[in-house]
Amino acid sequence: MSLSQNMLEIIEQRARRDVFTRVTRVTLEIGALSCVEPQALGFCFDSVSRGTVAEGATLVIVRVPGRAWCWDCSRVVEIPQHGAPCPDCAGFNMQVRSGNEMQLKELEVA
Ligand SMILES: [Zn+2]
Repeated sequence: MSLSQNMLEIIEQRARRDVFTRVTRVTLEIGALSCVEPQALGFCFDSVSRGTVAEGATLVIVRVPGRAWCWDCSRVVEIPQHGAPCPDCAGFNMQVRSGNEMQLKELEVA
């Protein structure tokens, strides 16, 4: 719930800055390693956005892969989830670099 509230705050700040009154579509990027459940997020967003500039907006969620450094391959590889092995060498000698983040990618306004 707090996640969609944070998101809504960002949207409302933009609405004040860029002066728009209606958001029709919100595109979010969510890291594959975050524990965000897209469906639950959509549901929460619907309820927190009621009565705001984002009421009725379509929520588009784009999953971005997680990235980790593989010590054995000495390079950054993409991983689908926490604890996943390296896709190249199948090793577990990994250090997660990104994939937990969520960011507002695009707002379509009317
Ligand atoms: Zn590897």
